[in-house]
Amino acid sequence: MSTREDISTPRRTKEIIQRHGFAFKKSLGQNFLIDQNILNKIVTAAGLDKTKGALEIGPGIGALTEKLAQEAEKVVAVEIDQRLLPILEEVLAPYPQIHVVHGDVLKLDLKALFAAEFDNVSGVSVVANLPYYVTTPILMKLLEEKLPLEHIVVMIQKEVAERMAAAPGGKDYGSLSIAVQYYSVPELICTVPHSVFIPQPNVESAVIRLSVRKTPPVTVEDEAFFFQVVQASFAQRRKTISNNLKSRFFPSEGRERLEQLLEAAGIAPSRRAETLSLEEFATLSNTLLQAGLK
Ligand code: SAM
Repeated sequence: MSTREDISTPRRTKEIIQRHGFAFKKSLGQNFLIDQNILNKIVTAAGLDKTKGALEIGPGIGALTEKLAQEAEKVVAVEIDQRLLPILEEVLAPYPQIHVVHGDVLKLDLKALFAAEFDNVSGVSVVANLPYYVTTPILMKLLEEKLPLEHIVVMIQKEVAERMAAAPGGKDYGSLSIAVQYYSVPELICTVPHSVFIPQPNVESAVIRLSVRKTPPVTVEDEAFFFQVVQASFAQRRKTISNNLKSRFFPSEGRERLEQLLEAAGIAPSRRAETLSLEEFATLSNTLLQAGLK
């Protein structure tokens, strides 16, 4: 049995950082995990086994990467910060199943990366402690590109996690909730104290699991138009859906036709967007599309 000390223990993390003279960059969202329990919770939530692959975004000094390699068949870790590459090469040397890719995940061709790296696994999940400054663009890229993913298990800002998982009717529910729930089933796994990171972030954190849907839960005739309707409906949260849609689709007409279309979709014009379910947005966008409003 190995007696190697995990990368993520506070003692070893500090030792690695000091020996390499590494200075954290706030602009890259560098808050590294030093808590075994949280790391284990994240890995367990991904349901990996030795037939599966994991894509990690932002391995840092490899704390989570090491745990993923112990569970999965193959791990690909994409890191933007060149200064971390020699550290990762050193600390992850015992794990030949890990491939570190240097790059910005937002610019990478992920479809090509999946085809090249994950041809021999039965399923792939994304598992990461995400850089908070780009959480939403990263998650939307993963979901919109329709990659063959099972789960996305990520540490993110608590407030963003709550918006992603929100149900209709509350202040957290908005276009982000609808986009995430169109592509996946979100589930808050746990909230996380500041003390599990070095340095500690100044916002609250949570782990969320997005179980990626094979097909959307609603029938939408034109996806791009559906998301335009959702965005327009939430343009000004305090306004009614009728006022928001009028500004976007009927700026110079009276409101009669719009109100007829809303009624045809079964939606009272006086409602606010935050009360509409995913199904209602789908019906509304299909109705507006059929009326030639694209
Ligand atoms: N996984 C490590 C851990 O949990 O200790 C580090 C997580 S830290 C919150 C975020 C990591 O993402 C950093 O290593 C940072 O350099 C990296 N990063 C930031 N922006 C990135 C991007 N656009 N593409 C890839 N990696 C990025």
